[in-house]
Amino acid sequence: MTDWKELDRRHIWHPYAPLLNPMPAYPVAGAEGVEIILEDGKRLVDGMASWWCAIHGYRVPELDAAIRDQLGRMAHVMFGGLTHEPAARLAAHLLRLTDGFYRAVFFADSGSVAVEVAIKMALQYWFAQGRPEKKRLLTIRHGYHGDTFAAMSVCDPVQGMHHMFRGVLPEQLFAEAPRARTDTEWQDEDIASFRRLLQAHAHEIAAVIFEPLVQGAGGMRFHAPRFVREARRLCDEYEVLLILDEIATGFGRTGSMFAHEQAGVRPDILCLGKALTGGYMTLAAVLATEKVVEGVEAGGHVLMHGPTFMANPLACSVAAASIELLVRSPWQARVKKLEAAFSEGLAELAKLSGVADVRARGAIGVVELRHPVPVVKAQQAAMREGAWLRPFGRLIYAMPPYPLADDEAKLARLLAGMHAAVRASLEG
Ligand code: PMP
Repeated sequence: MTDWKELDRRHIWHPYAPLLNPMPAYPVAGAEGVEIILEDGKRLVDGMASWWCAIHGYRVPELDAAIRDQLGRMAHVMFGGLTHEPAARLAAHLLRLTDGFYRAVFFADSGSVAVEVAIKMALQYWFAQGRPEKKRLLTIRHGYHGDTFAAMSVCDPVQGMHHMFRGVLPEQLFAEAPRARTDTEWQDEDIASFRRLLQAHAHEIAAVIFEPLVQGAGGMRFHAPRFVREARRLCDEYEVLLILDEIATGFGRTGSMFAHEQAGVRPDILCLGKALTGGYMTLAAVLATEKVVEGVEAGGHVLMHGPTFMANPLACSVAAASIELLVRSPWQARVKKLEAAFSEGLAELAKLSGVADVRARGAIGVVELRHPVPVVKAQQAAMREGAWLRPFGRLIYAMPPYPLADDEAKLARLLAGMHAAVRASLEG
């Protein structure tokens, strides 16, 4: 083989990046604790938790052991007509974490597929009720739900590049995203556009879908728990199912195990992913209430989904171990500490004229600039401080592994990296 890095540069597509004119992709030799170790030995505090999933960090003994153990039994078997204990153990954890509210769990391969399955559940629900005209979705602007087609159809229409897929993507309904950031700032106006669309289109809407409390890849926008509560009430009033996408917010990231808990309501269908396996393997889960299950299966129908790697035993084992570890850990205190560190440590950046906003919620710290971030330059400035960031749009942000809260020196390195990235973005 020619040099593997050369092969990578010439032949392998990286996410949202050109192949013909490649951007830097830094070779990684390993990862340990809260750090990524580059091939040249440089250690970077991981501010991204590998796109928000590695909540415990890397080479976590309990998670490594779970995979090794399961490997001694089997790596994979089909889930059609066969079953295994890791799937049941994981389902039990998920049902318990949601206080027995849900009846069923569907294991999908990734976040995007979980969103597809959730949408399919909603469409099949209304089909089986004899109301096939209820097939559209209502969402809010600035959302992100994945890169497959049904998921893309509910991503923000501008950032999601809907113009490129006109005629292919189903045309969904988009309400204005709420402006409020905390409960005290709530104004009824924040849900007005959502309510108007629901009133006008309820007869053709199968479900509402959005990310509760934090809209992630669509702009790291925060809204009040009150929005989620009002949306739940309106969905009930207008007979529409509520799907919450907690693929990014689940497993403690916003300060509660699931973000929707802060609103005191539950969705009919809940999508989980990313941190589900502690970032070890790809796996997602869709939880559905008894009402949804009975609705889908009315008249003898079944949910029409069954991927090859459904409920992969390695992934289920490590996910169960990750939840056990999370529940045992002081995750609330760690998330609180990270929130305080971001609030205090980033505050002074708000004074810079090129900075539009600085905000923190749970283990998420965000600096929003007035202009797009020069990604490579900002990233390299953070790397010089020993931190790994991946800014996008006008945002320099961090969503680190929770144990970073226990290491003052590394936390300081991450903050220094964010400061350096912001300053590098604003200079000349
Ligand atoms: N929903 C949300 C809220 C997400 O943040 C993401 C991924 N960033 C997805 C869905 C898609 O998940 P995946 O990349 O695993 O397909």
